[in-house]
Amino acid sequence: ALAAAESARLAPAYTADGRRIAVLLNIAAPEDLAGLDPAICDGIGLVRTEFLFETSLGLPDEDTQYAVYRRILDWAQGRPVTIRTLDAGGDKPIKGLTIDGESNPFLGLRGIRLSLARPEVFRVQLRALSRAAVHGVLKVMLPMIAVPGEFDRAGVMLDAEFAALRAEGTACARPPLGIMIEVPAAALCAEDFDAAFYSIGSNDLTQYTMAAARDIGSVADLNDAGHPAVLTLIARTVEAARKLDVEVSLCGDAAADTRLTKALLATGLTSLSVAPVAVARLKAAIAKVGS
Ligand code: PEP
Ligand code: MG
Repeated sequence: ALAAAESARLAPAYTADGRRIAVLLNIAAPEDLAGLDPAICDGIGLVRTEFLFETSLGLPDEDTQYAVYRRILDWAQGRPVTIRTLDAGGDKPIKGLTIDGESNPFLGLRGIRLSLARPEVFRVQLRALSRAAVHGVLKVMLPMIAVPGEFDRAGVMLDAEFAALRAEGTACARPPLGIMIEVPAAALCAEDFDAAFYSIGSNDLTQYTMAAARDIGSVADLNDAGHPAVLTLIARTVEAARKLDVEVSLCGDAAADTRLTKALLATGLTSLSVAPVAVARLKAAIAKVGS
């Protein structure tokens, strides 16, 4: 029985009616991959990089970041790896970086907004990512994007850092740049972005759509990713991605909620990203869809 469970975990995911669904991993640190066989997944859909910035050692330098990103790419053995740039603020305060005392940190200077406000910090991360990109299939994802101008500014900065590395003779590549869809404005206007891919962040998308914070227990009932309003925004994003012929995945906690698997796949999604512990459960739920 154990051997059967392990082979089910390693097998690629198909719905009962034969649709291939990519199952990717969410990780918050490279240690999350310890002892894991990369064959359980189709790649890594979300690397949260906040852990690098949460230490008491201050902000991580370029070499420190590069070493960590490279380790993750090495683990993936050629599978795609999506690394998200720093998503500080809101539920992820970082000492010395995020603003103390904002009246509503979830609506404040967080995610890409903070990175663009602190270019000296952001550039170091973009350089480390460009250097790591030669070691595998790296995709870089921007969090909390609301308007195309944010994506465009980040793209210009990535181009500049890549060009500077090349001019120095440092091994590097320009990774494709994509966006999280987690602000309702971005979901509603997804086709206005020139992004290489989308990844739907259902945690934030749900809280902003339902006006119910992800971390306030007394409104947890309202914080429902299965609400038709949230599912409509997800379907809307998937449709935009189809039209533009760009990849789309979903990496929020809803991907691991097997009560929602059927509804999520009904939006047209063919890629879900979950924590390693949820892989077997998700694959089993996918196999029941369409039966
Ligand atoms: C999300 O918002 O759904 C997401 C995946 O990002 P985080 O939970 O890190 O905000
Ligand atoms: Mg988020």
